[in-house]
Amino acid sequence: LIESLSDLDKLAVLGHGNGGTVYKVRHRNSSAVFALKVLCFDCDTIAIRHQATREAEILKRVNSPHVVRCHGVFDGQSGDLCFATEYMDAGSLHDLLRIRRILPERVIAGVARRVLEGLKYLHGMRIVHRDLKPSNLLVNGLGEVKIADFGVSRVVAGDTCGGGGGCCDSYVGTCAYMSPERFDPDTCGGRYDGFAGDVWSLGVVLLECHVGRYPLISAGQRADWATLMCAICFGGPPEVPETASEEFESFIRRCLEKDWRRRATVQELLSHPFVARGHSSAQGLLDNA
Ligand code: ADP
Ligand code: MG
Repeated sequence: LIESLSDLDKLAVLGHGNGGTVYKVRHRNSSAVFALKVLCFDCDTIAIRHQATREAEILKRVNSPHVVRCHGVFDGQSGDLCFATEYMDAGSLHDLLRIRRILPERVIAGVARRVLEGLKYLHGMRIVHRDLKPSNLLVNGLGEVKIADFGVSRVVAGDTCGGGGGCCDSYVGTCAYMSPERFDPDTCGGRYDGFAGDVWSLGVVLLECHVGRYPLISAGQRADWATLMCAICFGGPPEVPETASEEFESFIRRCLEKDWRRRATVQELLSHPFVARGHSSAQGLLDNA
């Protein structure tokens, strides 16, 4: 149990992101290692503070083997907010893809199953993640994949998110994994709850694991906001390479269905043959094949 921030010694920097830095830290008494995300506010606005508080609230509520576990939320110096989370020693899927570039389908199926289990849990708690991408999927030495970074997540009230449901609200970071409906101002007023957006993002991530690069624009294209938005909203159906199995192709098409009303749900995907066919274990993610 971590009682205070002063019990933690910083060992290294694990990552930088929007509004904060993540450190590897050691708990002095137990020698246990954690990740500590420090969101700093000296420079900053009420909006970020608000979002950080929301991240803290979500982290404290979630308890699933498929979601990075939180071991404490603390107030740091000068109003910083700090979260201690379970240290994921193999880094993020983004880091792994930089080394291995592509993953075999059976490994992708394992990643898919774990993330879907995580989404099933979160969506069951009415939490929309809203920022699934390789750098927010963390891996440990057992090859387990867990969902992290609730920095832009929302809790859905009733049927819709009340304007914050996951559509065109202001957004920091990349829009590359965002679903088409999130670019559409009309979605905001309707009954869109945002869950289908997480399914789209997962589809993009898994296709990227097969293709070896971001899959919705061509290799030479610049990934600026306008190019990405055009590809996501107006591009044809995703190109799944011929190297893909029929099951994988069908799975990806169900995730990347442009009309969110027709897109597969998490439940449907969990019984899709691509993930249901058995060999979707964590094994292989850390192999150096
Ligand atoms: P941001 O909101 O800045 O994107 P994240 O929570 O996604 O913050 O963390 C940024 C990066 O720090 C991640 O992509 C990952 O590389 C690293 N990181 C974050 N949390 C952990 C953790 N629990 N274990 C290991 N690495 C982590
Ligand atoms: Mg992140």
